[in-house]
Amino acid sequence: MNAVRPLTRAILALGSNLGEREGTLMEAVAELVDRPEVRLQNVSPVVTTKPVGGPPGQPDFLNMVIAVDTVLEPLELLEHCQAVELAHHRTREVRWGARTLDVDIITYGDLASADPVLTLPHPRAAERAFVLFPWSLMDPAATLDGKSVAELAAAAPDMAGISHAPGTAGQDA
Ligand code: ADP
Ligand code: MG
Repeated sequence: MNAVRPLTRAILALGSNLGEREGTLMEAVAELVDRPEVRLQNVSPVVTTKPVGGPPGQPDFLNMVIAVDTVLEPLELLEHCQAVELAHHRTREVRWGARTLDVDIITYGDLASADPVLTLPHPRAAERAFVLFPWSLMDPAATLDGKSVAELAAAAPDMAGISHAPGTAGQDA
């Protein structure tokens, strides 16, 4: 029956601020698309980001986004993303705390959902430069809720803490 399920474009955001951050992101991308139901369509550059919220003194994040086409239902895709997080020993003890790997679903087609288990579009994406900026580099024409992702990134409060070159957050943004 898989043949009749529609392909949906989803935007996934990845972040890591513990351990071998770049290696973790690269492995996570490979794992996310290592099944026939998920096809990689586009990959952003990796950006360096000062942590937003959470306890002070955390290491910088590396962030990126990818675009996939998938036949997975939204909750199946969320489970898949969480399985990839768990494979990297992500702990959830501190909200917004340091984590080995975070994978969020930013959009799933045009689906809008207020379900707290899977809110779509991701409720904080429109104000997070660490999602919006790499997304705009990957796809300069991207829109979120009808607004330019590049313009949303430029207006996001955390944009000053973002840089394109790993290891230099806030120095050249
Ligand atoms: P955050 O990503 O905001 O730092 P978590 O990764 O710990 O927080 O996510 C907490 C919960 O958010 C997850 O258990 C998940 O069910 C829920 N959630 C709601 N909407 C989404 C979404 N669009 N993408 C990923 N998780 C989501
Ligand atoms: Mg998350």
